[in-house]
Amino acid sequence: MSSMAGTLRPLVAGNWKMNGTKSSGAELEAISAGYDDALQGKIDMMVCPPATLVMAFAAMARDAALAVGGQNCHANESGAHTGDISAEMLADAGATAVIAGHSERRADHGETDDQVRAKAEAGWRAGLMAIVCVGETEAERDAGKTLDIVGGQLAGSIPDGATAQNLVVAYEPVWAIGTGRTPTTDDVAEVHGMIRERLTARFGGEGEGMRILYGGSVKPGNAAELMAVDNVNGALVGGASLKADDFLGIAAAYR
Ligand code: PEP
Repeated sequence: MSSMAGTLRPLVAGNWKMNGTKSSGAELEAISAGYDDALQGKIDMMVCPPATLVMAFAAMARDAALAVGGQNCHANESGAHTGDISAEMLADAGATAVIAGHSERRADHGETDDQVRAKAEAGWRAGLMAIVCVGETEAERDAGKTLDIVGGQLAGSIPDGATAQNLVVAYEPVWAIGTGRTPTTDDVAEVHGMIRERLTARFGGEGEGMRILYGGSVKPGNAAELMAVDNVNGALVGGASLKADDFLGIAAAYR
C-alpha cells in the first residue's frame, strides 16, 4: 500500500465501446458541461468514443478540459493493415490516450499480452497515454487464480519505460463487465494492492504515481464505495458512461 497512491489525481474515463453516432455529440456536450471547474479541480475526465467520433469529439471537448481517447490501436505506425488505426492517427485526430488490452479485445480478437504491450508502446510513440487493461475471468477467480492471472497480465502487457504520466492500469474483472456484478471492496483492495506492489517493485517511484482504475459495472450508486478503496485512483466506465447523467453521477463520487 502506497502513501502516495491516495493523493493521485483520479481519472474517470468512459469507454463507449461500439456505441455512438454523430447524434451522440449532445451527450458529449452534456458531459463537458457537467465537468465543471470544481470537478476539474479534483479529477481528470475522459471519453473514449468509437474511432469514427474521435476527431469530432476532440474538437468539441477542446475547451472543456475533457480528454478524448481511442479504444484500441495497431502496433504499427502505418501500412497494409486494412481496417486498423494507428496510434499516430488517433493522436492526429486529437486523442491524448488509448486503451490497450480491453478484455473484449483480448476475447474477441485474441489479443495476447505481447500484442497489448506493443499497442501501449505504439501509443507512447505517438505521444498518447496508454490505459492498459487487466482482469480475471469468473472461472479464474473461482479457481483462486485471480492474483496470478492479473500479475501475469501486468508483467506481460506493460512495457519497460512506463511512467506515472504515460501509463494508467485498469483492473477490470471480466465477469463484472456489463453484468451489474462487482467484486467486494475487500476483493478490489486485494487486487489493487497487489497491482500497486508490482508497479512499485518494477518502476519504483513512478509505479507509486501510476493511477490504477477499477472497471466493471461502476454506476452512480456504487461509485463512492468503490472509489474509496485503497489504491483505486478512478474508474473505467462502460455502459454508464453513455449517459451524461450516469457518467457525471459516477464522477460526483469525487465532489
Ligand atoms: C468496460 O468494459 O470497460 C466496463 C467497465 O464496462 P461496464 O462499466 O459496462 O461494466
